[in-house]
Amino acid sequence: MLTIFGTIALDTTRTPFHTVERTLGGTATFASISASNYVPTSLLGIVGYDFPAAYLELLKNRLDIRGLTISQTEKTFHYDSSFAYDLAKRTTNKTELNVIANYQSTIPDDYIDSEYVYLANNDPVQNMNILKLFSGPKLVICDTMDFWIINKRDDVIKMIKKVDGIMLNESEAKLLFKENNILKCARLLVSNGPAFAVINKGENGSLLFHNDEFFPIPAYPTEIIKDPTGAGDSFGGAFMGYLSQQEKWDLKTLKNAMIHGNIMGSFAIEDYGVEKLANINTEDIQKRNQKYKEILTF
Ligand code: AMP
Repeated sequence: MLTIFGTIALDTTRTPFHTVERTLGGTATFASISASNYVPTSLLGIVGYDFPAAYLELLKNRLDIRGLTISQTEKTFHYDSSFAYDLAKRTTNKTELNVIANYQSTIPDDYIDSEYVYLANNDPVQNMNILKLFSGPKLVICDTMDFWIINKRDDVIKMIKKVDGIMLNESEAKLLFKENNILKCARLLVSNGPAFAVINKGENGSLLFHNDEFFPIPAYPTEIIKDPTGAGDSFGGAFMGYLSQQEKWDLKTLKNAMIHGNIMGSFAIEDYGVEKLANINTEDIQKRNQKYKEILTF
């Protein structure tokens, strides 16, 4: 069983071409929708009284949402961000924690023996509290981002020490260690405990570091980019979903998980919010997997 914990958000995303307001987003949302293409996935988190019924239905149709709390007193986590013309660099306008600020860690009894746990980007203290509630997962991977690195760096480091794999993007890795070389960042991540580290570089691909070996791969090339929000989480969900499906995480399997991560990231950016991600099927994934193999063979 794969359980994913993180934010379930309403996102306002502004690009020079279009703005979407309060659309379904959040790290656990992207990650769990993506992972559900590989294994049955449980979503753990909290939303507020303003969370639209249609979004709840969408989640319910794909995921086990028994671990989703709906607050009757507070609003859903809201993230407001803008992208410039390159649709690469994001500026955060507002982070309204709302329900997640006082979230009390709890998991349904049926989730306690989850073998696979993905801690999507979220408050590192809450992530560690949730982790304590599981009886002994085989594989735990976490993600984090600039907001938590800036506000709770020590806790981020403590969280990294408790997981088997860590995933974050290039600028966050550099920010975390005040180090500008990503190979060195990957080594520093692993020196804190995890068996492997994945650093995402957006349109420039991603890097895996495991057992002293680096595996850099290009991003899946797509000509449609509307909204990069959630690309990293969709990558993370697919990466974790694939490993859970394979039930192993040796170097070869990790490399294949990188391919699936990139594929799901490429779908996520092709439309706003989860619009594209929630509407693809196994055949779409297989087609991109085949194409990826052709691209990487010469
Ligand atoms: P990314 O994959 O990095 O593009 O993640 C985008 C998602 O992260 C958005 O859907 C946001 O709702 C969510 N998000 C933004 N800031 C935070 C934060 N500080 N903690 C947790 N989730 C966040």
